[in-house]
Amino acid sequence: MTDCVFCKIVKREIPAEIVYEDKDFLAFLDIHPQSPGHTLIIPKKHYRWVWDVPNAGDFFGVAKKIAVAQQKVFNTDWILSKIIGDEVQHAHIWIFPNAQVGDDKNNLKANAEKIRAYFGN
Ligand SMILES: [Zn+2]
Repeated sequence: MTDCVFCKIVKREIPAEIVYEDKDFLAFLDIHPQSPGHTLIIPKKHYRWVWDVPNAGDFFGVAKKIAVAQQKVFNTDWILSKIIGDEVQHAHIWIFPNAQVGDDKNNLKANAEKIRAYFGN
């Protein structure tokens, strides 16, 4: 969709702190994080709802990779997830640590670098 902000992030028309990418999915930090490293995982192709994504198993596989990365990077086993989808109408899963981890949630650059380093990027 041409007016979709997440499609624009996929096309690199809007900058984002991307932490993970494969052929079908992209993960990047939320610009209004609820906690350090708050990540959105989206399909690169536009779907309205998470439930519309045909390879939903792969989608949730990426969500798990991000959650495990956050456990290691932010030193907590308490990782939350949310699926709502009413703000941006492009399927997305939120994965974010509990707010008790000590890192600064608003330092997106530093938190993204920690997650990218976990993935070896
Ligand atoms: Zn879109």
